[in-house]
Amino acid sequence: MKKIFIAGQWKLGGGKAIKSHYPADHSENADISTASSDDIHEAIVAADKAWRNPAWRSALPSEKAAILFKAADLLEQKKTFLAKLQTRDNGKPITETTGLVNSAIATTRYIASSLETLDNELTNQRIQSVLTFTTHEPLGVVAAITPWNSPIASEIQKIVPALAGGNAVILKPAEATSLIALELAAIFEEAGLPAGLFSVLTGKGSVVGEAIVKHPLVQKISFTGSTSTGRHLAHVAAEKLISTSLELGGKSPTIVFEDANIDIAVNGVIYGIFSSSGQACIAGSRLFIHQNIYDQFLDALIKKTKNIIVGDPEDSNTQMGPLISEDHLSTVEHYVNMARDEGGNIVAGGQRLTGDAYDKGAYYAPTIITGLKNDAQVCQEEIFGPVLVVMPFSDEETLVAEANNSIYGLAAGIWTEDYRKAFDMAKRLEAGTIWINTYKKFSIATPFSGHKESGVGKEKGRLGILDYMQTKSIFLNLDEAPNPWCETK
Ligand code: NAD
Repeated sequence: MKKIFIAGQWKLGGGKAIKSHYPADHSENADISTASSDDIHEAIVAADKAWRNPAWRSALPSEKAAILFKAADLLEQKKTFLAKLQTRDNGKPITETTGLVNSAIATTRYIASSLETLDNELTNQRIQSVLTFTTHEPLGVVAAITPWNSPIASEIQKIVPALAGGNAVILKPAEATSLIALELAAIFEEAGLPAGLFSVLTGKGSVVGEAIVKHPLVQKISFTGSTSTGRHLAHVAAEKLISTSLELGGKSPTIVFEDANIDIAVNGVIYGIFSSSGQACIAGSRLFIHQNIYDQFLDALIKKTKNIIVGDPEDSNTQMGPLISEDHLSTVEHYVNMARDEGGNIVAGGQRLTGDAYDKGAYYAPTIITGLKNDAQVCQEEIFGPVLVVMPFSDEETLVAEANNSIYGLAAGIWTEDYRKAFDMAKRLEAGTIWINTYKKFSIATPFSGHKESGVGKEKGRLGILDYMQTKSIFLNLDEAPNPWCETK
């Protein structure tokens, strides 16, 4: 039974144990204990004490950064192990999980460097003899709640800037993928992070997650996950009047114009939807192709999709692994059946994969659907699986209206050789991230955020630390004369 990390101690949690399974064959990875309500209270009280402790509050930015740099070195030393562990936990191919660990290392070093150069401000003097400063202060205890699809990257993306901002962090990983979070606790402990500043509380979202966010000492909710859970957490935060950052779902459009380089665009579209088996918030799941190249592009797309190597996630040649679970496969099946009912044509995939190793895991074929209109349910709802809906377009006004006709606004892709048109389109699409002639590229230096129901707030960017801080303005009077208001005439 795996212990969990509560207030600087490795303990068996008092909650009901959960299991981690390898999605490729459903074999058991580990039994993991979960947090009870007493464990949650203990961790949060200790976190509140830890961030207030002068040893951390008064530590120099360079001293905090040194701990983060050490954590980055440890992540690097354990890179192969962590990538394999995440593959075991969520079934993502090893090449992808290795990329995610690299991203976690880079994020940690980037934030540590930013912390060293983050300044408070001496604001413009507007009052004679009074100096005005604005300082950045920690918020307190941050609840970080994460999903199962990319834990190593999404967890580091929250923990590191929150700690850099002087806060304490309570991490609640997804039930299916707690193993990486526990390794991160061991890494930060070894890096010398003072006890109490970071706890990992495993367990069910509706029980453990709910109790964490509602605890009176929690001052910020940093959440990545579905829009429905995000909306619920926004209500909890509104009741407590605390800040949130919510990174939520998507149904991102990809647009291929007539003048696009077809070979390059086909590869980009395939990668955009089918990498991670489509289990990515930014998956390019709605494809609009100009009608003059529709048939040619679709043929090339189907041919290449049928060649995707779906299989053993631990094999470095594998492009697509299994889905996270049988339950999730049923959801994907449900949507593909719904597409059939809505009049869609399944031109690739459309069923679970069977035979040999496929029988042991939740493998679903990369699937392409045509013949539906953008207002079909399958085109509007997030499937979070390897399912692409394809639609033709002819005029740009209708295209923009349809691409933007979604409750989501997370990302969009544009494929064209005409950079003026691409830039104009980028400005008109309602999404937090726009990729032109590329897809699913990230940079820790560039903010990431969702528009509309894809999120509130942002992550990443040099000043991402400030999202975990609040400002304080200090007026320092240098005038020795008494306040004339009190002088009697
Ligand atoms: P989810 O919302 O079901 O769960 C996410 C996390 O919230 C889990 O840890 C879960 O245990 C916890 N949770 C659930 N109910 C809770 C509650 N009442 N109180 C507190 N915590 C609770 O999402 P999921 O199925 O794990 O992940 C898939 C979703 O995440 C998709 O919608 C995807 O688009 C989204 N996602 C978004 C981004 C982004 O950056 N925008 C990145 C990855 C995934």
